Amino acid sequence: MPGLDEAAPTTDRDWRAAAACAGAPLDLFFPESDLPEAAAAALAVCATCDVREACLAFALATNQTEGIWGGMTADERRRLRRRLRDRRRRLAS
Ligand code: SF4
Repeated sequence: MPGLDEAAPTTDRDWRAAAACAGAPLDLFFPESDLPEAAAAALAVCATCDVREACLAFALATNQTEGIWGGMTADERRRLRRRLRDRRRRLAS
């Protein structure tokens, strides 16, 4: 499995059928607090999910700025997007 830094953005939604979070309460994945404890339960579900990579790629491709996607918090995805953007710029120069 490629590293999370290598997740290719995609808008494909087929992965949702195998989501470990199917049927979970929405507020579990969209906690009101930014505290790490608030995300812990959702991240534990993500850790067991077979489609984590596809979920993360979708979140990146569709610029999901809220909630837990692909085993990452919104802040973690923001940092990942920045790293990916910086890497693309370095490769292009
Ligand atoms: S990685 Fe997490 S948010 Fe994404 S489908 Fe799996 S359990 Fe749901």
